Amino acid sequence: MSRVYNFSAGPAVLPEEVLQAAADEMMDYKGTGMSVMEMSHRSKPFEEIITEAEADLRDLMEIPDNYKVLFLQGGASQQFAAIPMNLMKNGVADYIITGQWAKKAAQEAEKYGKVNRIASSEDKVFSYIPDCSDLPIDDNADYVYICENNTIYGTKYKELPNTKGKILVADVSSCFLSEPVDVTKYGVIYGGVQKNIGPAGTVIVIIREDLIRDDVFPGTPTMLKYKTQADAKSLYNTPPAYGIYICGKVFKWLKKMGGLEAMKERNEKKAKLLYDFLDQSQLFKGTVVKEDRSLMNVPFVTGNEELDAKFVKEAKAAGLENLKGHRTVGGMRASIYNAMPYEGVEALVAFMKKFEEENL
Ligand SMILES: *Cc1c(COP(=O)(O)O)cnc(C)c1O
Repeated sequence: MSRVYNFSAGPAVLPEEVLQAAADEMMDYKGTGMSVMEMSHRSKPFEEIITEAEADLRDLMEIPDNYKVLFLQGGASQQFAAIPMNLMKNGVADYIITGQWAKKAAQEAEKYGKVNRIASSEDKVFSYIPDCSDLPIDDNADYVYICENNTIYGTKYKELPNTKGKILVADVSSCFLSEPVDVTKYGVIYGGVQKNIGPAGTVIVIIREDLIRDDVFPGTPTMLKYKTQADAKSLYNTPPAYGIYICGKVFKWLKKMGGLEAMKERNEKKAKLLYDFLDQSQLFKGTVVKEDRSLMNVPFVTGNEELDAKFVKEAKAAGLENLKGHRTVGGMRASIYNAMPYEGVEALVAFMKKFEEENL
């Protein structure tokens, strides 16, 4: 068997241990004689899977009792609509535009109310996080929305915006469980799991209970109402059962690794290796201002499109996959999520050094 180092932005690398455990349980999950894929979501074994997954996630993130954890479908993009439908009581929300995902979320929210774009970093291709210490927050805003880690551009909020008492809603798809978070600072934290936690098809929403309402936007589909999902404990209909099972295994892996504090240390060590190399390289250059660099997604360029393409091609031949950057940034992007081992980043940096020597 040969595994590559997979730097994909998502779906992305998962811990080998988790994949192996899932493979071992594929034909016969704990003596049930069937795979988790084949079992009723109302069965006792699945009830244990989802209950344990939620308990482990609560443990890892220290989620307070007055927050609900929902395992939903539709990806992060479905939440771009669900959030305004459920949260826009006054019909107003403030969005900070730090990339394509925040932009799309704002566009979707506009269908349900007034959207103020209160800050943006679009003037410099989203290569930084705007100053959020004194934002023009609307008095009537129901919430302030951020995309906390910008998967495409490689920026991350190092400090949360000053929302002046308004509820903070954060898309954490690409930094989920990469470091400790203070859940109490948010009204809603959500993310698609295919970046840092599990297989595509599951989205996790962590929402403060008092934000779960009955009087949502008129016409909101039953499935998109948080109250429906919270009342049914994510089992209103068939949930993404296999995805939840894998997420549960990743939560256990994270706990075994030492939890989110240990992940943060590990992620900082990996990112430092790559950023330190970029900072002294004659050929490669990081595209993000230093203060706002993401620990998870690292875009870089050579400044020459042909050379970028050559790099991506030769890296692939060397077992370093999915390094092509997003089309709006060009160049390369290395996504170094929780499950990317330190050795993977070492191999990438060694390859970059060699490529630089050969092509400078
Ligand atoms: C990938 C991504 C999305 C979109 O996720 P889908 O599950 O494909 O809808 C949204 N936000 C961020 C930050 C992402 O990285």
